[in-house]
Amino acid sequence: MSYKIEQNLETCIGCGSCSAVCSANWEMKEDGKAHPIKTVVEELSCNKQAEEICPVQCIKVIAQK
Ligand code: SF4
Repeated sequence: MSYKIEQNLETCIGCGSCSAVCSANWEMKEDGKAHPIKTVVEELSCNKQAEEICPVQCIKVIAQK
């Protein structure tokens, strides 16, 4: 099982919550927004917490076959 990590960058308000709970795959960039380090991961890891904590629901974790 792998997981696709999607983010609507336009919706991101740059709150930093995702990188706070999941610095392994989310980092804040110079544009003031968060960006995923990897967009396809083999392990869900903390990406689910990032999805859940995002106040504007712009992160989606999608299970792939
Ligand atoms: S939690 Fe959501 S709104 Fe906040 S920085 Fe991350 S992606 Fe952007």
